[in-house]
Amino acid sequence: MATLSEFLSRLYTVATVFFCLLTLEAVILFRLVTGSITNSDNRGVISTSQYLQLIEEKNPAILYTEKLRQQSVIECAVCLSEFLEGESVRKLKCKHTFHKDCLDKWLQQYLATCPLCRTKVLPDEIVADYHQLQDQIDHYDGSDEEMIFLLSALHGNGLQRIF
Ligand SMILES: [Zn+2]
Ligand SMILES: [Zn+2]
Repeated sequence: MATLSEFLSRLYTVATVFFCLLTLEAVILFRLVTGSITNSDNRGVISTSQYLQLIEEKNPAILYTEKLRQQSVIECAVCLSEFLEGESVRKLKCKHTFHKDCLDKWLQQYLATCPLCRTKVLPDEIVADYHQLQDQIDHYDGSDEEMIFLLSALHGNGLQRIF
């Protein structure tokens, strides 16, 4: 009988540990799902692809041509290299022109303004919404790491108790 009750108690421990793990994993899954629903609902947050799409709508990428060179559009002020014919560039409303990739990176990492004259490229509220989402993602990363730490700690303790 002693072995049976010992077996049952071990079974109970295993069941408890698995239940805890399941609950925590369900919480993580729920947060991921609700996070993605918020994004697609577009309620005050903008994803990176939506943000880039807005930049494209306002300042469509064009190919660099000899005609632009004649208009004294020579060099990208972000990477400081000369434009080559056929490269994708964006000409902003302020008439400053940059490589498409250079400008997009700039607008994502820094302020949504022209790197040269600081003219706004996108309205403030769109930039605020975009950075709000980035902050949320940073926050998610932190807490999920905590969750994973918690999961592994729990798992480790459970194993020590069982074996
Ligand atoms: Zn460039
Ligand atoms: Zn400018």
